[in-house]
This record gives sequence, structure tokens and C-alpha cells, in this order.
Amino acid sequence: MTRFDLFIDGTFRSAKSGHSFQKHSPVDGRLIGTVQEARAQDVDDAVRAARAALSGSWGTMPLRQRTDLLLDLSHAIARRSAEFVEAEVQDTGHTRHFSKTIEIPRGAENFEIFANLLKNSGGEFFAMDTPDGTGAINIELHRPKGVIAVISPWNAPFLLMTWKVAPALACGNTVVVKPSEESPATATLLGEVMNEVGIPKGVYNVIHGFGPGSAGELLTQHPDVDGITFTGETRTGEAIMKQAAVGLRDVSFELGGKNPALVFADCDIDKAVEVVMRSAFANCGQVCLGTERIYVERPIFEAFTARLKAGAEALQPGGPDDPGTTLGPLISKEHRDKVLSYYAKARELGATVVTGGGIPTFGDDRDKGFFIQPTIWTGLPDDCAILREEIFGPCCHIRPFDTEEEAIACANDTRYGLSATILTENLSRAHRVGRRLEAGVIWVNSWFLRDLRTSFGGSKSSGIGREGGVHSLEFYTERSNLCIKL
Ligand code: NAD
Repeated sequence: MTRFDLFIDGTFRSAKSGHSFQKHSPVDGRLIGTVQEARAQDVDDAVRAARAALSGSWGTMPLRQRTDLLLDLSHAIARRSAEFVEAEVQDTGHTRHFSKTIEIPRGAENFEIFANLLKNSGGEFFAMDTPDGTGAINIELHRPKGVIAVISPWNAPFLLMTWKVAPALACGNTVVVKPSEESPATATLLGEVMNEVGIPKGVYNVIHGFGPGSAGELLTQHPDVDGITFTGETRTGEAIMKQAAVGLRDVSFELGGKNPALVFADCDIDKAVEVVMRSAFANCGQVCLGTERIYVERPIFEAFTARLKAGAEALQPGGPDDPGTTLGPLISKEHRDKVLSYYAKARELGATVVTGGGIPTFGDDRDKGFFIQPTIWTGLPDDCAILREEIFGPCCHIRPFDTEEEAIACANDTRYGLSATILTENLSRAHRVGRRLEAGVIWVNSWFLRDLRTSFGGSKSSGIGREGGVHSLEFYTERSNLCIKL
């Protein structure tokens, strides 16, 4: 059984709170380990360590040395990737393939991308005229924002946490990370690698615990935190924003989605089915960018629905150790109960259940895990909870449409605005529709194709701010304008 300690000021230690909690496997419900739970004193220790590190060697380190350390970190994660994959798979039940090919390499790459970006980034310069004719120059100066609280979710723990830690450190900040209570492992393991490559003590700190009344809330309320970057549910974002209002701390939010896929009759149907299979069911539907609302142009509605049904029924639920697995479990019993409540609600509302709607049985220990059937519905009204609320499971509703205008109206009929996917072979239509969709990330004939230099984030209730490439630097950097009268 593993013990997940706090990592504060370069040292692994127990929580002074004396509290801990248990972490269970999503695959078979067995106890994986105990997690030390930070409360007020531990959170304060972590924030103090992060503050002190800003005035230590990290604060005066030349940019080149800092970015070289982050490149070393990236290489060290890659060297120890098998350990990271094991830790991630154990916590989340993700397929080993997903962790090995996406989660862990992308996590390592985050440090490389942002280190290189910082090495090559500059600032504004403006020369100006003055009435006396001597002129003045304006130079943009950058400095780190300070102590950054990083609050992350469980659905792609390492990838999403490093997506924030990497730019924060590249810009010279220090961080206190509060990973999800469901996925403590990889953030803890990263502490070892930080020490191994020589990142100074206190630059990276990890506190474990829950949200309200626990480590998450205590961290975001802490007066010595300068900025809060958060990925998680929209409702949690609202709570954190209230906490951040005291002291006017800056926030960067990547929140929930209820993302549409628009499948036009002029699409390549093989490609469209392949894309929507991934966007609806990858990671057992636990992807913020996932598509839970599918709109299909009427001439291909029946054919597309039949193809998606066949695809969903061919998915193989199972644990990470089974090489045939293509659908892992949901993260926890609580989350499965929530998703099942939507399955029940869809039936009550009179949905046609095209496939799924329940839980699979295996006749072995996996029956103690949190597996669920991939589910497709049709026939629900546009304004029902199934089409309004983020479910975050392997499920989608398919509805026919007749005109491009109707498809756009359906896609935008949501309080969320994270991502959208358009399936069409007509390039003019892709441009026309794409520019009218109210979403931060829009794909044509693909999904989850990410160039890390591009902006990423949600509009409407899906987020505040953008991260990725130079956009990350805006949040993690404080800017000043130095105006020199010549
Ligand atoms: P969550 O909001 O329940 O929890 C996220 C984190 O916030 C956890 O670490 C949790 O402990 C902490 N937390 C909860 N309440 C808090 C509070 N009051 N103060 C401080 N911290 C608090 O989200 P989740 O269930 O872990 O993740 C799934 C959600 O994340 C989905 O809504 C999904 O769409 C979203 N998500 C968004 C993106 C994106 O980029 N937009 C990416 C991944 C996940």
C-alpha cells in the first residue's frame, strides 16, 4: 500500500493536521494507499516555503539556468516515464496506452515547451515624441507574479497539472499544487524528480486534500497566494472566484463544457464516426473537451447513429492490465452514481436508448470497480438537463438538423463555450460555421489535436482567460512599463 505524503520545502512529510484519507482503485475498488490531508498549518507551511523560495536562489537565477533546469526536469520525467505511467494508471484506471502515449509524454513536454518559449520571448518597446523634442522610450518589464496556487482535477492529472506548473515555473514563480483528492500520485512523484534535478527547495510544493473546508479552500483563501490557476467544474470555479476576490487575486480558469459536434451530410462518414467515437468515449467520457451533444444533418442521421452504436458496442471495458481494453472505468463510485443518475433521468424523460444505459458485469473483481456502459440517446428535447448539464461520462445525445443555421443555433444553445467539432469536407462551410461557434477551441475533421503554442480555454461559463504558448505568460507574469525620458 502506498503512502502519499505532502511535499513541502523539498521534503516529503506527514500532515501536521494528523488527518489522512484513503484512495481506492477505480478498477476493482481495492485500497491503493493513504493520503496525508493538509489543513491550515500545512497549507500555511507550503505557502511560506513558496514565498521564501522567491527570495532565494530561484528568485535571482538567470533565465538560462532556470530554463535549463526545466529542460532537465522534462528529460528526467521522460526517463522515469514508466513510474509515472504506473502511478497515473493506478490512480485513474486509464488505459496504459492513453497514459503512455498522451498523458505522461505531454506532461514532460509541457516543461520543454514553456522553457523554450521563455528563452525566446521578448517584450514591447515604444519610442515616443515629447513636446520638448528629446523623446522618451517605453520598455515592457516582466517579473513573476509570485506564489501561484495550482488546483487541478483528476481526469488527466499529470497532463493538466504540468500544463500550469510548467509555465508558472518558467516565468520564475513558485507553486503550491493541490491535486485532486482522487489522483494524488503523479504530483507527489514529481516532487522526487524536482529534487533529483536540483530545483531549489520550496519552488514546487504539493498539498493533498479535498476542496471545501480542506486543502483546496484553505489554499485559495490564503492571503499570501498571488494568483490562482484552476481546472475543474464550473461550480467550483465560482466558489474559488469568491475566495480569490478577497485581496483581489488574479484567476485563470479552465472549466466545464457541454460541447457539440456538428456532422454535416457532406462529411467523410468514416472519418466523422472515428472522430466522434473518440470525442464521446475517450477516457470513458471524462474529458472536458468531449462531445456530449451530437447534431447530424438529417440525410445521414440514421446511418451515422447506427455506425456510432456499433462503435460504442465494440468498446471493450476493462482494467489497464488487459491489452484488449478500450474503455476504462469512471474515477470513483460517487462519479459513477452521478453519471448513472443522468442515465436514469434520460429514461424518465422518454429518451430512446440507442445503446447502453447501465453498468457492465464481469463476474470477477472488476465488478467492484466503477465501470459503466457507453450510452447513446436520441429523441430528447433541447432544453432538458441531459442536453444542458455536463455529465462527464461516456454518453452522448444525437439529434438531427436540417439547415446550417439550425446547426449553429443548436451548437450555441448552451451556457458553456469550451470546444466544438465540425465534420464537413466543404472548406467554405468549415470557415463559415467555425467563426460563428461560441467556443474557445474549434476543430474541423478532428478532435483533441493540440498544438501547445496555440491558445486554449473556454468562453462563457467554460473559463476565464487563455493558457498555452504566449497566452500562458500573460497570467504567470506581472508586467510593468518603464518609461524613460531622454
Ligand atoms: P472539481 O471542480 O470537483 O475539482 C477540481 C479541483 O478543485 C480538485 O482538486 C478539488 O479538490 C478542488 N476543489 C473543489 N472545491 C474547491 C474549493 N471550494 N476551493 C478550492 N478547491 C476546490 O472538478 P473534477 O471533478 O476534479 O474535474 C472534472 C471537471 O473538470 C469537469 O467539469 C471538467 O469539464 C473540468 N475540466 C476542465 C478542463 C478545461 O481545460 N477546461 C480540463 C479538465 C477538466
